[in-house]
Amino acid sequence: MTAQKRQTPRKLTLIIPVYNEADGLRRHLDEILRQLEALPASVGAGLLIVDDGSTDATPEIVQTLCQQRRDVALLVLNRNFGKEAAIVAGLDHSDADAVVVMDSDLQHPPALLPKMVELWLGGADVVEAVKVSRNTRSGPYRYLANAFYRLFDALTGLDLHNHCDYKLLDRKVIEAYRSLPERSRFFRGLVSWMHFPAAQIPFEEPAREAGESKWSALRLLKLSWDSISSFTALPLQLVTLLGGVTFLVSLLLGAKALYDKLSGQALDGFTTVILLLLIIGSVLMFSLGLLGSYVARIYDEIKARPHYLVDRGRSRLPDEGEGGQ
Ligand code: UDP
Ligand code: MG
Repeated sequence: MTAQKRQTPRKLTLIIPVYNEADGLRRHLDEILRQLEALPASVGAGLLIVDDGSTDATPEIVQTLCQQRRDVALLVLNRNFGKEAAIVAGLDHSDADAVVVMDSDLQHPPALLPKMVELWLGGADVVEAVKVSRNTRSGPYRYLANAFYRLFDALTGLDLHNHCDYKLLDRKVIEAYRSLPERSRFFRGLVSWMHFPAAQIPFEEPAREAGESKWSALRLLKLSWDSISSFTALPLQLVTLLGGVTFLVSLLLGAKALYDKLSGQALDGFTTVILLLLIIGSVLMFSLGLLGSYVARIYDEIKARPHYLVDRGRSRLPDEGEGGQ
């Protein structure tokens, strides 16, 4: 790497989005805090927990921790805005020289932190943890995740295979990310798209320690489509291609119908008519739906609502002057 080594001392914030994680949270955070002790003394590290509208005791657990430790801060969002919004909220409220985004359930092993920091101090702007296997997940999940990444790669040219949100970002990457104007965010996709010099650390993803995954099959499907449609309009062009194909088929069938008519055999052909109606009908509906989902996307962006709203009363931030919404 040709990048320059960074000067110390440096400030590092761990941004941890949490949603209904009361089960086991304190233990997980204690484990993460323990790993901070293994960082070089010149790096001042702290935690910024972003509560994404939990309905259980999650914020209270973190508030208690904030009273006990100065290096833990809490940002509470008004309601569940989703993990992507929680990450943006965390980035907006950190003034550190670098942040690490990580999950609270220890599926992003905190033991990687010293190595991440070392690579960052060595000059990398992005340090990403990349899974070497997804064995902890169920068979269908693995299959669908692979299918999604293959499709995403084919449509956008970005290979996110085995990527996750466990990443260290330098200040300049944070600023670049925050300056992106769009509302809809796909963190790992956008970080890869920004293409800052990155180092990678492979890791085995452990099973979830406590609680359960917050992504239902339907939510994952929606997330997959949102990620694809926020990155590429290629599916819309595929609709045009589909129109072209049906046009060619209709030319062939039209010529046959005309030939049948002229040669006096026009009566048989009801099956063809029914099939054509069904095919064209479904192609039209499919295309309309696809178009609709892109229009909805534009509608969302045009409304330009904030990514998140902060509950100041329940948050525990060291300095209210930092960042913005
Ligand atoms: N999370 C969040 N908001 C949500 C869903 C999840 O902040 O709407 C957090 C969650 O608390 C966890 C992290 O995002 O810290 C990853 O979630 P999860 O472990 O459920 O995802 P998985 O590991 O199954 O991909
Ligand atoms: Mg998890």
